[in-house]
Amino acid sequence: MPQLGFGVWQVPDDEAATAVTTALEAGYRSIDTAAIYQNERGTGQAVAASGIPREELFVTTKLWNSDQGYDATMRAFDASLEKLGLDHVDLYLIHWPLPSKDAYVDTYRAFEKIHADGRARAIGVSNFLPEHLDRLIGETSVVPAVNQIELHPQLQQTASREAHARHGIATEAWSPLGQGKGILEVPAILAIARKHGRTPAQVVLRWHLQLGNVVIPKSVTPSRIRENIDVFDFTLDPEDLAAIAALDENRRIGPDPAEFHVGA
Ligand code: NAD
Repeated sequence: MPQLGFGVWQVPDDEAATAVTTALEAGYRSIDTAAIYQNERGTGQAVAASGIPREELFVTTKLWNSDQGYDATMRAFDASLEKLGLDHVDLYLIHWPLPSKDAYVDTYRAFEKIHADGRARAIGVSNFLPEHLDRLIGETSVVPAVNQIELHPQLQQTASREAHARHGIATEAWSPLGQGKGILEVPAILAIARKHGRTPAQVVLRWHLQLGNVVIPKSVTPSRIRENIDVFDFTLDPEDLAAIAALDENRRIGPDPAEFHVGA
């Protein structure tokens, strides 16, 4: 899985093809979509039009909450593949755990079937808390390859990252730039950016990469799309990493996975 990919949340379907095409031209090879984003069709169109060999691309999509449960998952996966115009995805994720619905184990059994059939090269989860991971791993056979969680300098997710390391699960950061709100203006980030002659967004993405996180920044602005992947030719110093570590406020932008149940 490429460590840096392109996220398309909140990109309307009719703009997704253009944004994904710009990203592919800029060198991104991993795209993160979801059924609920309603842009799998536009994403698939850009993938098809790119001419890039399928095996060089990494396409992720996610199962929406209303489709949890074994049979509903099978139907929802077929629908996602049809919209994407693909015969397999590289990664399929359960979007939210919905603990109150108590269906994620059954749902994941369908994921294991999809994986065994080769229609998802890898399967994983999103927004799972360590307790959800423990239960899932205890009751199913395939350890999730990935847990995609909200993670940025103001929410560094130390406990989840430790749980992932214990289980051999990759940590994927959603809203890696904190949705561009606030974190890119924090004085410590601005100072590090000045020191390296880089932008604040590049500093934050570089921090993720050096921590070992997978990142999927989103933008529809071509210059920012290119800026966000131009992060492989500089290195943050230990004191930069320490300064960013000190910014953790354990503050979520998005919902708490223990309580979020929209669509359930
Ligand atoms: P993000 O942290 O990637 O921030 C995106 C915003 O930051 C942009 O809309 C823009 O306003 C700003 N931005 C982007 N590049 C910039 C730059 N170079 N300079 C200045 N500002 C810049 O936020 P996101 O879109 O919430 O998250 C990224 C991806 O994560 C999503 O597109 C989606 O694929 C995924 N995601 C998943 C979940 C989940 O529940 N699994 C939830 C949210 C997002």
